[in-house]
Amino acid sequence: METKNTKAYGTSAAEAPLQSMDIKRRVATPHDVEIEILFCGVCHSDLHTARNEWHGTVYPCVPGHEIVGKIVSVGGHVNKFKVGDVVGVGCIVDSCRDCQYCKEGLEQFCEPGMTGTYNSPDKHLANTPTFGGYSERIVVDENYVLRIPGNLDLAATAPLLCAGITTYSPLKHWNVGPGKKVGVVGIGGLGHMGIKIAKAMGAHVVAFTTSQSKFDEAQRLGADEVVLSKDPEQMKKFRGQLHFILDAVSAEHDINAYLNLLRVDGSLALVGAPELPLPVAAFSVIMGRKSFAGSMIGGIAETQEMLDFCGEHNITADIEMINIDQINDAYERLLKGDVKYRFVIEMASLKG
Ligand code: NAP
Ligand code: ZN
Ligand code: ZN
Repeated sequence: METKNTKAYGTSAAEAPLQSMDIKRRVATPHDVEIEILFCGVCHSDLHTARNEWHGTVYPCVPGHEIVGKIVSVGGHVNKFKVGDVVGVGCIVDSCRDCQYCKEGLEQFCEPGMTGTYNSPDKHLANTPTFGGYSERIVVDENYVLRIPGNLDLAATAPLLCAGITTYSPLKHWNVGPGKKVGVVGIGGLGHMGIKIAKAMGAHVVAFTTSQSKFDEAQRLGADEVVLSKDPEQMKKFRGQLHFILDAVSAEHDINAYLNLLRVDGSLALVGAPELPLPVAAFSVIMGRKSFAGSMIGGIAETQEMLDFCGEHNITADIEMINIDQINDAYERLLKGDVKYRFVIEMASLKG
């Protein structure tokens, strides 16, 4: 298969910093579009993967699955997009298209396995992992490419491609809306989108944070109430009060403290993916017939639905723009919860 050299930023080992590297991408096939990447959000999953915290990373690894860019060429059979269109690519770049879940628009649960935007076996290039958005261009089948609403700021839209859909999908699945009291735990990239989207869906939103500075400003993001989760007195006030909790914490924490805040028949959905298990006490769920659940990103059609919803409600991420050579510092700050609320890489900085 014909390939083209592409500038990227990635890592060659779990302990190594990210650095400039050259990768090969296929030349667009008839169903592909070739996208010049303008902006790429920095998801905590990029860090988990780059450092092999989920134990499946193939090196070299080029992370990045919150991609916004401009189409620079299209294959001969592409009919959904044209050169010049501004588009998005999220966490999924392919799937089998034939299993029950693909047919239902749940490509993230594709039976033989979806092709992730990075660190999945590349279907076109043998013995090569897919490479993500920390790069100058990407080539993607048009069926896995998203349209960006025209009214949204492009850099601030990039985080919707993962943080947006990962919070929208469970909020919708668990019927969040008017009359529902919803908790959002961990106000990082995902959590701050969760607050904005749950609020736009009409729920009463309670934000839980370990950070005093976020406590002071979560209401600006749309939270009706804010709880400093380290303070047991503040936590106690919400015992048995919440219909649904979205937990977007990236590290170990006491899940039982949150299960205790659910009403009878309430559900807590984990979207955060800490490296180590989170022990659940039996009485946290049997008392009150509660559900401890999880959710992973969202399918392609639902990602488009989320983008359109955000367009209608004027929702984007609060971002801090960085150049690609600041990525290693950004990872360190992510580990400290020190970002308001998503780093976005200005990809022109890769061209230097
Ligand atoms: P992030 O921006 O780093 O946010 C994580 C937040 O968790 C922090 O801002 C902090 O919020 C809180 N936190 C961090 N360490 C903590 C600790 N030790 N104890 C309590 N709270 C802590 O990360 P993100 O990009 O939003 O991603 C969050 C998690 O979701 C990651 O594990 C990521 O891999 C995962 N993820 C899952 C999916 C999926 O499909 N399920 C998709 C994308 C990401 P406060 O300062 O408010 O406490
Ligand atoms: Zn992500
Ligand atoms: Zn499938």
